[in-house]
Amino acid sequence: MARTPFVCGNWKLHKTVAESLDLATAIKNSVAPIRDVEVAVAPVFTALHAVGKRLEGSTVALAAQDCFWEDQGAWTGEVSVRLLVDLGVKYVIVGHSERRQHFGETDASVNHKAQAILRHGLRPILCVGETLAEREAGETFGRIAAQLAAGLVGFSPEMLNETVLAYEPVWAIGTGKVATTQQAEEVHAFIRAQLRERWPTTADHVRIQYGGSVKPDNAAGLLSQPNIDGALVGGASLKSDDFLGIVKYRLSK
Ligand code: PEP
Repeated sequence: MARTPFVCGNWKLHKTVAESLDLATAIKNSVAPIRDVEVAVAPVFTALHAVGKRLEGSTVALAAQDCFWEDQGAWTGEVSVRLLVDLGVKYVIVGHSERRQHFGETDASVNHKAQAILRHGLRPILCVGETLAEREAGETFGRIAAQLAAGLVGFSPEMLNETVLAYEPVWAIGTGKVATTQQAEEVHAFIRAQLRERWPTTADHVRIQYGGSVKPDNAAGLLSQPNIDGALVGGASLKSDDFLGIVKYRLSK
């Protein structure tokens, strides 16, 4: 099953509007000739509009780092999917471990958000991953299975087809500790097997990104694994050269 690799930069809480525009411009120009990898960037909310305008007509898609599931109302501080549609956003990250860890994100809220994203015709990038304690206790597969089961409640095959999954071992995010290609592929294959049990005809179409200290020098090894279909990139997405090095991972194989 040929799946187009998908590399998304998660800029987290970095960069002003002007800095975001500089980075978006550099990425837009450098990835323009690349056709065999899909690319997206997820700036801070306040830069989404400007970056979206800058990316118009380019091959780089606009992504948001989070959303809220209600369309409008008395929800001070929230940003709804409806508002993201307005800005030309295509992908929305949900369930990132930083949101789970620091902002009370649960599997149930991840599911509400993913359903709202799909209802509005956008695509969720749904993150799952185990902590170091869970890995050391031998609970990795149980944890991932539980996050998938709860995060994908109510999903039809059509909904799954529009969804990207991201396996991000929490112990590898922003730590410089990257999972080995074997550790990552083992979990990716497990995720696909879990999907196959519930959605046998759709599972092979779903892209599963790896995230956790992906850099230009480890991207080729990870992304050439059979069930790793791209990367969700934090730190290395903040410099256009590093990000480009990951997008062009095939050249360094
Ligand atoms: C992330 O934020 O999703 C991530 C994987 O970060 P980093 O690449 O910095 O580990």
